[in-house]
Amino acid sequence: MTIGKKFNQLDKSEYFLIIENYKQYKDFNTLGLYRSICENENLDLETRMEVRDFAHTIFKKTFNFYQLKDPKTYFELTTLGMNLTVADERQAWKEIRENQEKILSDKKIKHRNFGDYSKHNCGYDNCPYNGIMIKQGTGLSENHMWFETDKKKENAKNKSKNQKKQRREKYKIIRDDLDN
Ligand SMILES: [Zn+2]
Repeated sequence: MTIGKKFNQLDKSEYFLIIENYKQYKDFNTLGLYRSICENENLDLETRMEVRDFAHTIFKKTFNFYQLKDPKTYFELTTLGMNLTVADERQAWKEIRENQEKILSDKKIKHRNFGDYSKHNCGYDNCPYNGIMIKQGTGLSENHMWFETDKKKENAKNKSKNQKKQRREKYKIIRDDLDN
């Protein structure tokens, strides 16, 4: 049996059904599932948290390993709905960094065997990701990829706000012209 749908198109009841019966789906993929919880636009915050918590009842051990495999997804999911201060965020990344080291030593994996992992090192001393091990292609490897996207989103929002304002002003001038 296959899911036949992308994870980030599922609704809440489909998530629960698929997680519960995950062994029956040939195309089930735990990382894909967890990533989609952040990305799926059909879900509101509360539902994201419910799906995450339900997935944790089965896949929590696998999820913990994502601190190494995909720290961005791990961070986003563990801090869902929390209002983090900069200091909180820093603390969360510090814990991820420590847990990465634990995972590596528990598995007796020597760093040199992790060819496709590298440590984040952007050159900014106060960067919260400093020393975080990143697998290539999973975000964070490019310097501040998500800060960059956040900024872009912010700019796009402001831009559309400005355009609306400009349009309003334009119409106002036209109306004023008609009135006179
Ligand atoms: Zn950095």
